[in-house]
Amino acid sequence: MSFGPVKADVSLARLRAALRYFLVFWLGIAAFLLGLSFFIKDRLRDYDVRDVEERLSVYLAGRPVSGLMDKSGPRGGGGSLQGLAFIRFVKAGEQLLLSESSPEQVDFHRLAGLDSGATGVWISMADPEKTGTWTIVTRTLASGVSVQAGKYTGLSLLYGGVVRLLRLAALGGGLPALALALACVRVGLAPIRRLSADIVAILEEGRTALLLPSEAAGPELADLYRRLNQLLQHNRQLIDEMQASLDNVAHDLRTPMTRLRAVAEYALQPDRKPEKLRDALSDCLEESERVLSMLKIMMSVAEAESGTMHLQKERVDLTSSLADVTALYEYVAEDKNITVENRPQPGLSLQADRTRIAQVWANLLDNSIKYGKEGGWVRISAAVDGDSVVIVFADNGMGISKNEQHRIWERLYRGDRSRSQPGLGLGLNYVRAVVEAHGGTVEVASELHQGSRFSVRLPRIQRESGTESARSRSQIKGA
Ligand code: ADP
Repeated sequence: MSFGPVKADVSLARLRAALRYFLVFWLGIAAFLLGLSFFIKDRLRDYDVRDVEERLSVYLAGRPVSGLMDKSGPRGGGGSLQGLAFIRFVKAGEQLLLSESSPEQVDFHRLAGLDSGATGVWISMADPEKTGTWTIVTRTLASGVSVQAGKYTGLSLLYGGVVRLLRLAALGGGLPALALALACVRVGLAPIRRLSADIVAILEEGRTALLLPSEAAGPELADLYRRLNQLLQHNRQLIDEMQASLDNVAHDLRTPMTRLRAVAEYALQPDRKPEKLRDALSDCLEESERVLSMLKIMMSVAEAESGTMHLQKERVDLTSSLADVTALYEYVAEDKNITVENRPQPGLSLQADRTRIAQVWANLLDNSIKYGKEGGWVRISAAVDGDSVVIVFADNGMGISKNEQHRIWERLYRGDRSRSQPGLGLGLNYVRAVVEAHGGTVEVASELHQGSRFSVRLPRIQRESGTESARSRSQIKGA
């Protein structure tokens, strides 16, 4: 049997987890490259604009402003445009355009139509080969003449190339981003993978394998390993207890089952008379009923002792709970001429499982009457003692000897002098298990031939109020 997770599921989950990281990394890379492209563009533009301005300043230096628009004469000394593609002078609708470049390079037609205030960087030219652009700077001189100077530049093309490169890098960055994301997920999941492998190792080793190796857990998983080990220990303890209960039940049932078998074998002997057969069948029925009730009670005790008993706790009015059980035993007590006095302090309530707690009262009262004195008494009382309520069942019956007192709580223990009375030896065992499951205690004080006093101590509900309606009594005695 394989305990490992399905590989396809793991890869898919890993990819899904990586997607988030991948998007973050990829967007990060793209944003970085975008920022870089803007930065480069700014630098290149600044360089171009400064260059044109410097060249224009050199050109204008020393030239009289008045002669600038004079088309006939030289505009100041020297005809060179300082490497500028063109210089354009505009004043009141008149314009003069100077250029040393060939008409193929400079689109004069477009230049003539340029707004006299236009300034720009990398204004594209009507150049079919797209080999360059203009960087244009405009300056207004004191005489009201606007001077526009432009330089033919290839930097914009260089920038275009850079942008294309960056765009490619952004696209190509997807792959390293994915690899990085997968690596992050792999690193992040490493402790979980180790935990999964440790659990698989435990499962494959079988039930005898004990705990997760917490020393290999690493700081991030130490607490998780510790808690998982607690859980494993708790489960193991439960399994052991249940196993022990099962062994006990099997052992305890062996005697009645052997008896059952013996009766059946006796009945199957040849020539048995019909009335003997009928007796045997009735014995079998009785014995099987006995086995069934033993099983039921023992399973309940096992549940209570292992902490798996499901208690339906609710507010239980003690007066009516005790009154219900007492009413149930009225005729049994009368048969033995025993007076039952039920005098609990009024208004007391418990947080308890109504049926189970009634079974506790029933077992104690049943014993008090069963082992009570002909013509004697049983007194039931309940009173507050600190944070508890103490419920006492006292009788003046046969009592229990000192050396028996600690054994009466054992499963299937029956006092020597009690064998004449019907019983399974499970009542007090059940009483103690249920009381302890409610967070309480039960103890006995007894004197041989004087009587016994069983005290149940249970946590008290602080605000005592109201009474509760009596419920069905059909389930009261027995588990
Ligand atoms: P059962 O009553 O079926 O024998 P229990 O578990 O209820 O089993 O009681 C165990 C033993 O404790 C009894 O067999 C009896 O010897 C003793 N015992 C219980 N209650 C009393 C009592 N009120 N007076 C004297 N002995 C008692």
